[in-house]
Amino acid sequence: MSNDTAWLNEQKNKLLETQNRLREIRQNRTGIIEKYSGAREREPILIDISNFEVNFEARQDCQDAAKDGLIFSNPLKIMEVTSPFGHRTNAIPNNHEGTDYRASIKTFVYASEAGTITMALIEPPSNISKSNSSNLRIDHGKGWETRYIHLDSFVVKEQEIVTKGQLIGYSGNRKNTIAHLHFEIRKNNVPKNPENFLKR
Ligand SMILES: [Zn+2]
Repeated sequence: MSNDTAWLNEQKNKLLETQNRLREIRQNRTGIIEKYSGAREREPILIDISNFEVNFEARQDCQDAAKDGLIFSNPLKIMEVTSPFGHRTNAIPNNHEGTDYRASIKTFVYASEAGTITMALIEPPSNISKSNSSNLRIDHGKGWETRYIHLDSFVVKEQEIVTKGQLIGYSGNRKNTIAHLHFEIRKNNVPKNPENFLKR
């Protein structure tokens, strides 16, 4: 565990302690108020730590990439999520290894970071799921990889070196109900939530 993770965990625990202490105080106050006025205190004293947890993960992911000299940028000019990373309501949980962004046919797709094209296949080999049709991958070094799926065509070839923000292809696979780009960021082949890295 890195020092940053340890520090953030410590902050999170402090927040939880404070939250518990506030609950105690509130319970005591409620008792006193009820005793003297018969009224019940209504407003709860709670600290919402859910945002803290999301920010914690995003900060950690960005720091991990930054340590390897990488700052991922948006693969599309306009970024609108049509299906988030992780789970889908009508499917097996946690089976979505990237984020879907709305992208009509022929929308420009850009390299999220500099790297080497390791795969540029319109028709994937049989060992790759059919739903991953048109698979473009960039190796960014140190175990980092981005994947761009459901593209219409590419303007790069395998082994080509690309710069950050360079046009790599056009989105819009016609087989999908909502035309979108499926975008993945992986570290050592583990899918990460792309939204943790991207800015709006
Ligand atoms: Zn997807």
